[in-house]
Amino acid sequence: MGLDTALRRMSRREFCRLAVTAGLSALAPFPQGRLPYLPQPRPRTRRTLFFPQAAKDGLGFYVSDDDEASFLSAFDELGGAAVLGYPIGRRYTAEDVIYQPFQMMLLTWDADQGKARPAPLLDVLHDKGLDGKLKERFRIPGVSIRKTKDIPVNQLLQEFYEEYGSESVFGRATSELEGSTPFSVQRFQDAVLQIWTADVKNMPSKGSVVPVTVGTYAREFGVYPQEALVPEMPGKGRLGRRVARYAADDIVRRGDPSQPYIYLTIDDCWDPLQVETALDIAAKEDIRLTFFPIGNILSDAPELWQRAVAEGHEIENHTQTHRWLDGLPEEQIVWEIQAQHTTLEEVLGSSYEQHFLRPPGGRGIFNYDPRILRICRQLGYKVAMWSADSRGYRFYPRTDSYALSQTLQNVLGALSDGAIVLQHALDTDIAVLPDIVDAAKEQGLAPITMTDGME
Ligand SMILES: [Zn+2]
Repeated sequence: MGLDTALRRMSRREFCRLAVTAGLSALAPFPQGRLPYLPQPRPRTRRTLFFPQAAKDGLGFYVSDDDEASFLSAFDELGGAAVLGYPIGRRYTAEDVIYQPFQMMLLTWDADQGKARPAPLLDVLHDKGLDGKLKERFRIPGVSIRKTKDIPVNQLLQEFYEEYGSESVFGRATSELEGSTPFSVQRFQDAVLQIWTADVKNMPSKGSVVPVTVGTYAREFGVYPQEALVPEMPGKGRLGRRVARYAADDIVRRGDPSQPYIYLTIDDCWDPLQVETALDIAAKEDIRLTFFPIGNILSDAPELWQRAVAEGHEIENHTQTHRWLDGLPEEQIVWEIQAQHTTLEEVLGSSYEQHFLRPPGGRGIFNYDPRILRICRQLGYKVAMWSADSRGYRFYPRTDSYALSQTLQNVLGALSDGAIVLQHALDTDIAVLPDIVDAAKEQGLAPITMTDGME
């Protein structure tokens, strides 16, 4: 009798005893030869994401938080794909320590601390005598500094280093900054950082700091066990690759579900008349709105935006021109966000603190362009998505009863504690705003601004 069978028999006896004790007589008798369903013990997966980016043919690797280790939380906390790259292997165990390799770093599970952290992969490569090959093949400097705490002298590199958590993430510098054009490189214990000093087509722009894909190089040198490198199949539903859209905690899709607040957000705002109507409704109902206007249209009606702020509403960021951010070079993404903010401050005649960016069309989040999140982090924005979309724009400019009831229904079906409602400043949407507010109040939900509820 195999161990498996023994366990299953034992489980059956155990289950029957339990069922009888609990008086569940209907569950107790099983037809001979058939076993009840009993869950098998395995690590409970709390959160998992599938990443197809570093494998072919739709395969990829999972990164998970479970009872054994929490690599997904570490991935998010350390800066995601911008700092670690994507996973290039499965979780594996070597000498009782758990690891998972990424393109730019190797994560290890620190059981004492109860958290994952970067392993000193570059020191491992050094110990294996691979410095010469790293230099020859990838222009990575050999170890030249050992006991100093000195970190980079280059201003941009220093900023990146500090931005992403410094020594606890990258380890200590183990070389000087070497090389000049088109990039210079500095070696650390856990990663190698590269700073681009010239513009090269299809490469990071001049002035960018990027970690080098040493995790991938280490694969070529046989650092990871072969079985860890076999790609996995994506699961279905919640375990599938679609989940990767929501990889980071600073993407806000709803507020605290234990608090009786909702967030009415109004995008684009091309039509000043509809913005004014929304402000009138809000004044009458004593509620607060969060606007996500496009920067370009702000100066069409400065007095409206001044009024919105004076009446306690919030004006967040929806970019200057409403271009899809995932198609743009990094400098332009930054410009889109900063130009909207600057325009707003000019229109208001004072400084104004923003906390949220809503990317036009949700692009870069739905299709997971990691640059958007990284840039938002750097500029101090969270990404504001939504939990209910009125889809009123589909009927614009209709305000007949069919258009209104459909639009309203899209929101009412999703109205609950913490809901973020997406609307646009268009006739159809603003016409149903009073009904949304009535329904919210009936459910005991107060519409407040996103910053009031979440910052
Ligand atoms: Zn928009």
